[in-house]
Amino acid sequence: MSELHVPAIQLNDGNLIPQLGLGVWRVDDAVAERVVSEALEIGYRHIDTASFYQNERAVGRAIAASGISRDELFVTTKLWNTDQRDPHGAFHASLERLGLDKIDLYLVHWPVPTKGTAVGAWRGLIELVGSPECDSIGVSNFEIEHLTELQRETGVVAAVNQIELHPLHQRRELREFCADRGIAVAAWGPLGQGITDLLQRPAVTGAAAAHGKTPAQVVIRWHLQHGTIVFPKTTHRERMIENAAVFDFALSEAEMAAIDALDAQHRLGGDPYVFTGE
Ligand code: NAD
Repeated sequence: MSELHVPAIQLNDGNLIPQLGLGVWRVDDAVAERVVSEALEIGYRHIDTASFYQNERAVGRAIAASGISRDELFVTTKLWNTDQRDPHGAFHASLERLGLDKIDLYLVHWPVPTKGTAVGAWRGLIELVGSPECDSIGVSNFEIEHLTELQRETGVVAAVNQIELHPLHQRRELREFCADRGIAVAAWGPLGQGITDLLQRPAVTGAAAAHGKTPAQVVIRWHLQHGTIVFPKTTHRERMIENAAVFDFALSEAEMAAIDALDAQHRLGGDPYVFTGE
């Protein structure tokens, strides 16, 4: 299905990122190769992984087997919290596991403010970016305070902040802060991780019925129309196709507003102020 045309977003360093991709958290290394191979076959060109997911090798095998030119692919991986004191070592270990010559986007996975090592890690990423091995650098789960500290200490602004973001947790203040600084926002948990009633909410099901689309497609479309980068996770081929079939309709202003009104500050994941992952 090479007819999948995903728009790109230009990052503040000039690089382009496909606005839609596939996330592979909680996809075992044993199945990730099949999942990523199917996604690439369907037309996905952007894969979001992390050293923490322990499936970089499988992602790399799928990419190698695909025969798709490296220039057409966008691969994100992340520096795990316990590696913040050795960002270069961790980066090269990820590169080796992925079997790639280059990582498109490397993120500091969490700010871990209780450890105080994120600024040092960020300095390490600044040394990597722009080398042939690393195109763009960014962060994940960073709050305004953490972004401000990085900028104050290093003067270098992240290209991306990947945060928990879905209609039940909309992070408006943080999104505005990022927009003001040209930091692209990427959503994790974009569908509410399949553990909320998000896809049953009338604002979502009503728009789905109106457009002949599924609730998941409506929520993905809501993210896209807000300018957010999104990579819903699924291991099912049919859902991969469904989640990517979101470029042939548009939500109206009223439909967007009805979903905007679902914000409940309902966080599903860790609190970035205290989360260490240990
Ligand atoms: P998600 O919102 O993408 O939820 C995935 C779940 O939604 C699936 O397991 C399934 O239950 C359901 N789903 C998927 N497609 C569906 C469909 N078409 N219809 C109905 N249900 C459907 O949550 P996620 O996996 O947490 O987030 C996406 C990606 O974000 C991850 O795979 C990972 O790459 C990234 N992520 C990053 C962080 C971070 O700290 N940076 C944390 C979590 C996830």
